Amino acid sequence: MKIWLNCSLACPEDASYPFELIIFKWENKEEKFRQLLDGYKKDLLLNLRNEESPLDIHFDVPNSEFKKEEDNLIILSELKRGKVVFYDTNVIHLSTLSEYLEWYLKFLAELSDLSDKTTYKSAKDCLDLTRTVIYEKIRTYYDKISSIDTKKEDGYELIQPIFQDLLFLNYYFTYMEIDEGLLICPKCKRWYPIIKTIPRIYPKSMKREPMDTDFQKKWREFYPDDVIMD
Ligand SMILES: [Zn+2]
Repeated sequence: MKIWLNCSLACPEDASYPFELIIFKWENKEEKFRQLLDGYKKDLLLNLRNEESPLDIHFDVPNSEFKKEEDNLIILSELKRGKVVFYDTNVIHLSTLSEYLEWYLKFLAELSDLSDKTTYKSAKDCLDLTRTVIYEKIRTYYDKISSIDTKKEDGYELIQPIFQDLLFLNYYFTYMEIDEGLLICPKCKRWYPIIKTIPRIYPKSMKREPMDTDFQKKWREFYPDDVIMD
């Protein structure tokens, strides 16, 4: 499961969201997180993707070489009815610059309920970077945009000051895959496992699968105290 997906999940018992998300194991190798941090620090993240190997190709080419084919873009900007609108793999609908950044700020604020209990130091560094430096940069830029001419035809120029940050968030939220983790309802505190990358969200009326009980045994020490254990 990708972190991004958590913004569209809700508890089947009481429709509450967002879930508290605890990550136990990533499907990606730690090297991917290291490359991502390194690419961000060197300003080399690129606005294109390669389904086969999303992160391998991004760090040795100057970031000014955008590929303009729509399928290869992570972040797309275009001019619609005199306004620059944005689309990216996290936000998925076209929105104006202020709506676009509002979505990110709201989503990043919800990350307070995310914790990374994996053995990957680089993945934890990605989460820290997202919550501190990147969140601050986007918030500061959002505060400034009322004084910026958002009718510019070149949307990339408009988001240039935070472009590496937005690319980082796209790679982190959309390409990194949680292999095993726990979702906890903020209201009823029922737990739902993520097993083999799939969130398994079943109503109480269904009996727990043996795979759920195995999962519970394996990760028991990381369950928060207030979770309803059944
Ligand atoms: Zn619930």
